[in-house]
Amino acid sequence: MAKKDYYAILGVSKNATEEEIKSAYRKLAKKYHPDLNPNDKEAAEKFKEVNEAYEVLSDPKKRQMYDSGAFDMGGAGGFGGFDFSDFTSGFDDILNFFFSGGRSSAYERPRGEDIQIRLNLTFDEAARGVKKDLSYAKDEQCSSCRGTGAKDGTRFEKCPKCGGTGKVQYVNQGMFGRTVNVRTCDACGGSGNKILESCLTCGGRGYNRKHVTLPVDIPAGVDNGTILKFTSEGNASKVPGGISGDLLLTLSVAPHKLLKRKGLDLLLEVPISIVDAIMGAKIDIPTAYGMRSYSIPEGTQSGQMFYLKGKGIRSSRGKTGDLYLTVTVDTPKNLTPEQKRLLKELSFADRQQPKIKSYSDILRDIYK
Ligand SMILES: [Zn+2]
Ligand SMILES: [Zn+2]
Repeated sequence: MAKKDYYAILGVSKNATEEEIKSAYRKLAKKYHPDLNPNDKEAAEKFKEVNEAYEVLSDPKKRQMYDSGAFDMGGAGGFGGFDFSDFTSGFDDILNFFFSGGRSSAYERPRGEDIQIRLNLTFDEAARGVKKDLSYAKDEQCSSCRGTGAKDGTRFEKCPKCGGTGKVQYVNQGMFGRTVNVRTCDACGGSGNKILESCLTCGGRGYNRKHVTLPVDIPAGVDNGTILKFTSEGNASKVPGGISGDLLLTLSVAPHKLLKRKGLDLLLEVPISIVDAIMGAKIDIPTAYGMRSYSIPEGTQSGQMFYLKGKGIRSSRGKTGDLYLTVTVDTPKNLTPEQKRLLKELSFADRQQPKIKSYSDILRDIYK
């Protein structure tokens, strides 16, 4: 597959600075943006190309690999690029990577406690997404009294202390004068109700301890330590009329036996034979979506890294990681006399091993 010239696509020179690349990209992205070129297939194609070029050239590591030629644009394998069909509706309702501890709402409705549980996933489950049934115990709003704590949900009257508002005002005489503050009514706990006859099911508490099973969709691409928030699936409020806390699910992802994960990127080290390094070979590699093969070129060096774009993990949010493949030569040991004899018969020219030549030239130069 012919390599695309990303520098030509962006119209910059091979030694363009990051700033030059960024500015060229901005100009072109604006020019070909689909919003400005509706129904223009050619512009859409250019826009894609420009983005692809920028994605590689704006990342120093990828740019270096691109420059060195160790770069696989993927193409054929079905899982390069973005797949927006991965987005599921309501995704944001269940997924919240930004787990915020503090709540800043001015008006605090009484709220139940959050529940934290841990879920173990295999490497593949985390990469591809999985459906799970979570079983856990929680305080659930009492259905007999609808959480009011009063028999039949009706045997209560307005709290005499707060007049049914759940709040009481109090005056503070402080250094800066008189201030009026509002706090939760302690007589009714903020519910505004005085229970005349307690609910028989929950004993007037408004909630019951229950074992529940919650079916959840774990989205593709989650990682070890990811916390998923399930709103209002935590404990019911201790105060009738309050809202339930959340369920916070912390994921423990088992490591893969060969692949290392770094975000959505995958790192893989593959030992190859000295013959494969010299002659080139097709090697089998694992991915999160099954095995695939990769052709290493003739004259591959030990420690050489290959960049397989889009062969990392695909998240449900439409992002795709890359795979970084490092090969190391497994130098054979304990050769038979016959093998040693055959190897000694081989000799190589300087131009076939330029690094050795260069090293000995420099060394000789230092000590001449
Ligand atoms: Zn009250
Ligand atoms: Zn009840």
